[in-house]
Amino acid sequence: MRAIWDELMQFPMTALAEEYESLREPIDAAILRVLASGRYVLEEELAEFENEFARYIGTRFAIGVGSGSSALTIALKAAGVGPGDEVITAPNTDNPTAAAIEHVGSSVVFVDTEPDTFNIDPEQVERKITSCTRVLLPIHLFGNPADMDAISDIAGRNNLMVIEDSALAAGALHRGQKTGTFGLIGCFSLAPSKILGAYGDAGMVVTDDEQIADRVRVLRNYGYAPGIDLDPANLLGGTTWEVRDHGYNSRLDAIQAAVRVKLKSLEARIGSRRKAAAIYDRLLEPLGVSTPMARPGMEPVYYAYNVMAEDRDLVRTALADDRISTRLYYNPPLHLQPAFAHLGHGPGSFPVLPIFPQITEQQQSWVASSLERAVGYRV
Ligand SMILES: *Cc1c(COP(=O)(O)O)cnc(C)c1O
Repeated sequence: MRAIWDELMQFPMTALAEEYESLREPIDAAILRVLASGRYVLEEELAEFENEFARYIGTRFAIGVGSGSSALTIALKAAGVGPGDEVITAPNTDNPTAAAIEHVGSSVVFVDTEPDTFNIDPEQVERKITSCTRVLLPIHLFGNPADMDAISDIAGRNNLMVIEDSALAAGALHRGQKTGTFGLIGCFSLAPSKILGAYGDAGMVVTDDEQIADRVRVLRNYGYAPGIDLDPANLLGGTTWEVRDHGYNSRLDAIQAAVRVKLKSLEARIGSRRKAAAIYDRLLEPLGVSTPMARPGMEPVYYAYNVMAEDRDLVRTALADDRISTRLYYNPPLHLQPAFAHLGHGPGSFPVLPIFPQITEQQQSWVASSLERAVGYRV
């Protein structure tokens, strides 16, 4: 077997160029149309994409922003979260989740994750609520929905807002409802490697609340009241403007909005990820490694396929010898990072196997057999 695969490329973690190849014509056409239009920021292309994204996710509003990181910061600010407020989240996430909380001047409160889903543990959330707590900020880690029934219940009983970090989970379903739609605000990343990836940075804020939507539109555009003509010639010509807030320059530009082309085939790609995950589940089941756990009623989108192994580093080295890429995510986790040392926390992590819509069953068998040798069940 090895001889055959020796002929092939290194096993990647993603296949973004292959994906672009399969969509080249409509993507090129959309981007060239924008270039020729001379209208690059906050234009029709974005409005169309926002409408389509809102319809897909199932919210009244979707507002395009510059990144998933910005989506989180702007969401918190739009919700009126600031100094003196505490926001409860998990340390097992990308830095932007917790950084956003600090950016608006509020305090990060970390709660540990469930050992099987790696999502925030609702049972531990309740114990961390104080009179300063304003927001519960769950992450749907690796595209696996957090327990939104329990989180919504805790939020309701304690009069807290819920803001979801759905950066890795576009299209994931929690009992038939898309993640990002449970709380007051949902935040998505459209960075290239994410489930719906643009060709650069982009993000989306979704909400059913019209006031929040209006505030997000103001905040992403320098803090200007809507309707201001940004054309400098018109400003000089005497148009008045209104600076309503301390905003950001964080617009989803029209070229990145061309990613809406990919929205049409997103469900098919998510279907491929789910199928690949089911194949890994079957292939790895006899190996005794721990594979991703989805609770009943949850339909993850498998941004990543994570396994737990006793001797993680040895397993990674053995897989690398077979030219299979793995990644350690969030290692060490945020509560052990210098930027969050001030919170005073004291150590878990897991290797992640390649999964992407284009991966073939044959490739996955190779990964599984390599992993089998690596964990030493059949040397
Ligand atoms: C990627 C990511 C973000 C940040 O999104 P960007 O678009 O990269 O700024 C936030 N949270 C999580 C969990 C992510 O994976």
